[in-house]
Amino acid sequence: MATTDPRRRVPRTDAVLADPLLADLQSSLGRDRVRDVVREVQDQVRRGDLAPEDVVAAVRDDLRRRVRHTQVLNATGVVLHTNLGRAQLAPAAVEALVASAGCTDVELDLVTGVRARRGRRALDALGRAVPAAGGALVVNNGAAALSLVLTTLAQGREVLVSRGEMVEIGDGFRLPDLIESTGVRLREVGTTNRTRLADYAGAVTERTAAILKVHPSNFRVEGFTSEATVAELAGLSRDTGLSLVVDIGSGLLQPDALLPDEPDADTALRAGATLVTCSGDKLLGGPQAGIVLGAADEVERVRRHPLQRAFRADKLTLAALAATLGSATTPTYEAVHVPEGELRTRAEDLGRRLAAPVVPSVGRVGGGSAPGLDLPGWAVVLPEPYAERLRLGSPAVVARVEGGRTLLDVRCLPTERLDEVTAAVLAARDHLADAGGSSGA
Ligand SMILES: *Cc1c(COP(=O)(O)O)cnc(C)c1O
Repeated sequence: MATTDPRRRVPRTDAVLADPLLADLQSSLGRDRVRDVVREVQDQVRRGDLAPEDVVAAVRDDLRRRVRHTQVLNATGVVLHTNLGRAQLAPAAVEALVASAGCTDVELDLVTGVRARRGRRALDALGRAVPAAGGALVVNNGAAALSLVLTTLAQGREVLVSRGEMVEIGDGFRLPDLIESTGVRLREVGTTNRTRLADYAGAVTERTAAILKVHPSNFRVEGFTSEATVAELAGLSRDTGLSLVVDIGSGLLQPDALLPDEPDADTALRAGATLVTCSGDKLLGGPQAGIVLGAADEVERVRRHPLQRAFRADKLTLAALAATLGSATTPTYEAVHVPEGELRTRAEDLGRRLAAPVVPSVGRVGGGSAPGLDLPGWAVVLPEPYAERLRLGSPAVVARVEGGRTLLDVRCLPTERLDEVTAAVLAARDHLADAGGSSGA
């Protein structure tokens, strides 16, 4: 027993540090930093948690995890998972990110050699995608876009908003608090389930600067409900000279037949919205960004506000957004629109490789988009303990736990990723078998 006890075979620190597989990490992170991790990993061997021959790989893994986010395969069936970073970027957007890592012409015209409109390719692409918008602006996220627009239009004055649209966007952040923190006073009108045009009209005073319509994107009120349409509010805005701001949230630029309840930017502007705001990393399928669209002079006013400088998007975002808008499709679009039959084929393929059964599985758009919309799909079923093991693998696989089972929903796992998923599950299976074997012995 003594000679085979792995605890007695802990590789020496010097020997581990001399391994060529750790050379690059020592030159980039420093020898001390790597040595600290080697000692921790050696402790795992002493405790019997790790085989001695796996030390080098474990050190590499550990160091990589400390400086990089861990790549995750999304097997949740939720397309825009906020905790997983929302939209997965299109290949062209990924290339654009890498290509923009150094110096770029983000704000320079290389022909004339003078300063140019920052991020003009993304702005031009937005203009092409939303013909009703004469101007566009890109900031850090949807919350920044909305704050900046309302600050510009209504600081120190009132904005009318329906009581049914006072939403919390997640992690305890509420739009009303965000808006009021910018020095804009919210005047709530109507009730939670019904707000009519007359409620807005009756609340207009000389203090009112704008009307705000927010798409309550992460919940749905059902039953006895009504709301004023953008077109109705646009009429009131024309009659009273107030601006009409529409926060559509999800970033659909044009209507999508599969998502009939999701508002889109082009339709809102055609219906008379002064400015539309939305996110870049929801249904638009791009990087985290906030987008402002509207008539050129209205957008320019927002762009000139001093706070814009605090919210402006960086070169990577602008490059990825331009590339996303230039792509024929995005992983987000594909995952939402993939036919159920194709998902079944994909799940059966994965199920065969894993010798595991498949079941129907309901997916979601997520990320606070299209609430209540079921996306029928398929999943492979594994025993519950797999969920944790898969999360700890590399790449990590985040599955859904439901009814005491682990479900691998294949909606966001394109066919070309199935090899990786298979390898991850087989590694988890080995690990669970080892753990089961030793505890049973
Ligand atoms: C998601 C959302 C926001 C916040 O956008 P972020 O990009 O997450 O900052 C604001 N309003 C609505 C309606 C949303 O759906």
